[in-house]
Amino acid sequence: MRVAILGGGLQGCCAALALGERGMDVVLFDRNDAILSRTAVANEGKIHLGYMYAGDPSLSTARIMMKGALAFAPFMHRHLGIETHALATSVPAAYVVHRDSQHSAQAVEDYLRDVHELIVKASTGREFDYFGLDISAPPRAWTSSERDTRFNPDAALAAFDTPEVAINPVALASVLRRAIADHRRIEVRHGHQVSKVDSVDDRLCVTSEKAGFVQVDAFDHVVNALWDGRLAIDATMGLKPTRPWLHRLKYGISFTLPDGLERPPSATFVSGPFGEVVSYPDRLTYLTWYPECIHGYSTEVTPPVWDTFPPEPLRTKILTRTIAAMTEIVPSLAAVDAANLPDALVKGGLIVAWGETDIYDTNSELHQRYQIGITSKDKYHSIDPGKLTMAPYFADQCATRIAGDV
Ligand SMILES: Cc1cc2nc3c(=O)[nH]c(=O)nc-3n(C[C@H](O)[C@H](O)[C@H](O)COP(=O)(O)OP(=O)(O)OC[C@H]3O[C@@H](n4cnc5c(N)ncnc54)[C@H](O)[C@@H]3O)c2cc1C
Repeated sequence: MRVAILGGGLQGCCAALALGERGMDVVLFDRNDAILSRTAVANEGKIHLGYMYAGDPSLSTARIMMKGALAFAPFMHRHLGIETHALATSVPAAYVVHRDSQHSAQAVEDYLRDVHELIVKASTGREFDYFGLDISAPPRAWTSSERDTRFNPDAALAAFDTPEVAINPVALASVLRRAIADHRRIEVRHGHQVSKVDSVDDRLCVTSEKAGFVQVDAFDHVVNALWDGRLAIDATMGLKPTRPWLHRLKYGISFTLPDGLERPPSATFVSGPFGEVVSYPDRLTYLTWYPECIHGYSTEVTPPVWDTFPPEPLRTKILTRTIAAMTEIVPSLAAVDAANLPDALVKGGLIVAWGETDIYDTNSELHQRYQIGITSKDKYHSIDPGKLTMAPYFADQCATRIAGDV
């Protein structure tokens, strides 16, 4: 069986590995000269256990995120080897209730505890499911003196320890790239812009263009993992969304914390348009602050191809303003001099989600992220991962679905 995968981001690469594992031959198309060069490496790498989604009290988003989170490390260990250093994790995140939170500190605390109970149930009887970390302890409320030593008490109403971690997506990508290149069943077609998929007799034909040459290849199955390019190719197969969607361009910054400076806590500020600090033991630090890091919206089927690494002066503006905004909540960051961070990176990508209004609106559908996954039309499968967290989980689901056709 020969399967085309459209898109060499994390979702496409995971699908390729999952299909290769089931004995299928895979051709992976990507328009860039390297796979894993877009959103897959421009995110903050948080492997969501569901704590983030207090805006979905039905817990449906939390339920699906924890399934993805618990499948993530086992999938990577299976394909990349148990000793992989590409899965070094951040310091676990404290969830911090911002003074302008859309939910009270009590409501957030209740939500975190409900999510924790679901995680315990979902992980019972499984070993090393979440990066080998102990996830059995319920979220712990910080005392006010603990909170006041790490956060500005005017901005942080309450803080709770959680076991949630991030991985470094750049480190993971470099190991994945090697695994894909070495895989005897996976052929990568770099520089191929996919323009359509047609159903011809019992086969699916993928049309792509490279350097002005149009090429058509026939396959038994096609998997669309194009992320921001997904809806356009779905439309060529007659799959049209029945609801509004929003593409948001979001950046984040990363740098190695200079020696001598106090390492900030990993923290996720909830609930609303706030941001995160992701702090790694090796001093890699990632910051994002929503009002400073959002730089574009599109409701087009095909959104503009925005820069992963923004040009100057936008780069410096995002870097300095994000550090300044975060310093108002995490005072220890005041010692970070934006002009003196030799490896500072500003990087970003599109967030694709169902919804019409931004997250400033408490009623926005963007607060619910569970309507994601695989839509199949006969032998054509379109995967909306929703989050990096979900890519391995949906890859295995999709490969199992295709293998059932053998
Ligand atoms: C700033 C930011 C922070 C984020 N943080 C997190 C987080 O902490 N945790 C989390 O779980 N998720 C996070 N996300 C979301 C996560 O990054 C995405 O859900 C995920 O990376 C998308 O899947 P992908 O990696 O396959 O996408 P991409 O890497 O974008 O892969 C799609 C590929 O398709 C290719 N392509 C597109 N159109 C075409 C075409 N027509 N022809 C050929 N090739 C094409 C592109 O070149 C690209 O390589 C974040 C996103 C952003 C932007």
